[in-house]
Amino acid sequence: MTTTLPAQSACSTSTTSKGLRLVAKGQFAWAETPLRELSPGEVIVEVAGCGVCHTDIGFAYEGVPTRHSLPLILGHEIAGRIVMAGEQARKWIRHSVIVPAVIPCGDCDACRSGRPTICRKQFMPGNDADGGFATYVRVPARGLCPVPDELPKGLTLAMLSVVADAVTTPYEAIRRSGLSVEDVAVFVGAGGIGGFGVQIAAALGAAVVAIDVDADRLELASAYGAALALNARECADVKSAVRSFAKQSGRHGIGLKIFETSGTAAGQQTAFSLLGPGAHLAIVGYTAQKIELRLSNLMAFDATAQGNWGCPPDQYPNALSMVLEGRIHIQPFVEVHPLGEARQVLEAVHHHQLRRRAVLVPQ
Ligand SMILES: [Zn+2]
Ligand SMILES: [Zn+2]
Repeated sequence: MTTTLPAQSACSTSTTSKGLRLVAKGQFAWAETPLRELSPGEVIVEVAGCGVCHTDIGFAYEGVPTRHSLPLILGHEIAGRIVMAGEQARKWIRHSVIVPAVIPCGDCDACRSGRPTICRKQFMPGNDADGGFATYVRVPARGLCPVPDELPKGLTLAMLSVVADAVTTPYEAIRRSGLSVEDVAVFVGAGGIGGFGVQIAAALGAAVVAIDVDADRLELASAYGAALALNARECADVKSAVRSFAKQSGRHGIGLKIFETSGTAAGQQTAFSLLGPGAHLAIVGYTAQKIELRLSNLMAFDATAQGNWGCPPDQYPNALSMVLEGRIHIQPFVEVHPLGEARQVLEAVHHHQLRRRAVLVPQ
């Protein structure tokens, strides 16, 4: 069942969305599509900004298949304003929102059992349907995170797009770890995801270690919450450095809370090597590569390893509050580029040429 545009829509029926389509591996084309039919529970978001994630690079250049067949517009870190809504979603019209990267159905066994992140009927923009590297995107209204019209100085709705994934995914990993002021948190990888993880853990009062191979990232992590920054290329014994830091930290939490946020085989190796009695290892980054490890260390150390596929939508307002309260800084960790340069920006991210997480902004 579909409805035509509501009368209060800010768009006219002739409005079209312009977006960058992935046509085949490494091949893109601009496309303009009309915005027409909308299901009762759907909305059209006028994109303010869409963050570029490592997952998009996997889809675009590494042959990772999208669930919807190509051509497809990528982009799942979306913030914007609702300009059209189906009949059951009218209350969202003109509201600013963050669209969760993973939107559960809300109705299946997993959703009803409080495990929405494993919902098999979940919707991910830029994977199940056209995403946010466009001027407009159509998404389900359920799970949208409202954003106040007035934002703190220096923060824009476009920048808040990274809350959709880069902020909320480590937020959820940290929440599940039960991190407290008594803990030492170690982030292996201080890039797009780890940089926000460091800030969240520090804001929660933990003593934070950041490990990376990039001096610039480590400097930023130190400026925003890491009490110890270790360059894995220069530090011969990362494990001892973390151990002595933990000893001197005055924290009495049992076991390190380790977060693998690099999404690399080397990072996973380092993260696993840090396991000790009662440790909690969270796998936040993704790589298709495999590593060899002694899994029995989990048993020997009575340790826990956990992964999380995104973050339940009901946690988004909590993560957003931390941003609005200035406990998570976004501006120093992102760089804004015009949507028109999406092709070049994706290419640059693919070749690790950008210093910050890229956000694409339609003109
Ligand atoms: Zn992502
Ligand atoms: Zn579900």
